[in-house]
Amino acid sequence: MADISIPQALLPLDGRFGCGPSKVRSEQLSFFESLQPGVIGTSHRQAPVKNLVRSVREGLLELFNAPEGYEIILGNGGATSFWDAAVHSLIERRSQHLTFGEFGSKFAKAAEAAPFLEQPDVRSAEAGSLASAEPVAGVDVYAYPHNETSTGVMAPVVRVNGDEGALTVVDATSAAGGIDFDPSQVDVYYFSPQKNFASDGGVWFALVSPAAIERIERVTSSGRYIPETLNLQVAVENSRKDQTLNTPAVATIALMDEQVRWINAQGGLAWASSRTAQSSAILYDWAERREGLSLFVENPDHRSQVVVTIDFDDSIDASAISKALRANGVVDTEPYRKLGRNQLRIATFTAIEPDDVLALTACIDYVIERL
Ligand SMILES: *Cc1c(COP(=O)(O)O)cnc(C)c1O
Repeated sequence: MADISIPQALLPLDGRFGCGPSKVRSEQLSFFESLQPGVIGTSHRQAPVKNLVRSVREGLLELFNAPEGYEIILGNGGATSFWDAAVHSLIERRSQHLTFGEFGSKFAKAAEAAPFLEQPDVRSAEAGSLASAEPVAGVDVYAYPHNETSTGVMAPVVRVNGDEGALTVVDATSAAGGIDFDPSQVDVYYFSPQKNFASDGGVWFALVSPAAIERIERVTSSGRYIPETLNLQVAVENSRKDQTLNTPAVATIALMDEQVRWINAQGGLAWASSRTAQSSAILYDWAERREGLSLFVENPDHRSQVVVTIDFDDSIDASAISKALRANGVVDTEPYRKLGRNQLRIATFTAIEPDDVLALTACIDYVIERL
């Protein structure tokens, strides 16, 4: 394959289409710069950093249209740490997990490995399709991802009406800030900020219902051994004071703050959701029309509006496309590594301009013709 040089006129203004870390808007970095020297490099126990944390917590409540009594809590370690925290501090005896890709499975495995819990009820579906929940007696946490980032499958956010007091716990890492939902349907809606919030990693955030707060209090006072970093009661108490147990990634919180403010100013989650729907529709419509391409997610209702997965038939080498795009500054279109498919995976997160998504399709067309 000769080096393919994509004409400047075809290239997107911003070539970042990764599913996390993902495109960070310049305005976020300008805001970050404006925090120098008053906030960055100062104590996280003093007002300047605590005000920043409060601003994110209030901004998220507004963004999610949070019902009365819901709170935003945060802690260090990202969504992966939250799984361990949930295993220790949220699941009382037994959880049910929907697994239809990498991320849902990881939470299920964390619960399976916990010696103090009963074996979870795991409901799996093939990558590219969607599993469904079913109320089961004795299950006290129902867990599933809002958007399975590894495959591009989106699940409806609906409460599972199991035993009284059972919680619905949704991994919203790649959905939050990009897909509208009804917050009254969930008890815990948790996420990392390096996807639709266009920030950096290292911190988790969660919208929690009064029932979830009560559960956390009960489980963490039950006598079970819980490492302090995984104790969600400690996170609740610190979050209420706009703090974290230990030093947070202040830069991540700062970039996050600007993105939340931006989305709220543009029209909130409804605006973000229509923008990602528009961007993803550009890709889906283009791929459906084009010879040799097919959509990995067969059921149109399950296709994600924030992560688009496109399969290529044997006549086209998708990895050669990703490589050629990368050489031209258009990056991170590779499929999820463990899926091992002849595929491109493209984020259509809120920060990404729909016009850039359109430009990306022209770039891929250009590359395919020259492979
Ligand atoms: C990216 C992602 C995670 C992992 O996030 P980390 O910040 O790396 O822990 C978990 N769940 C989903 C759905 C994701 O997209």
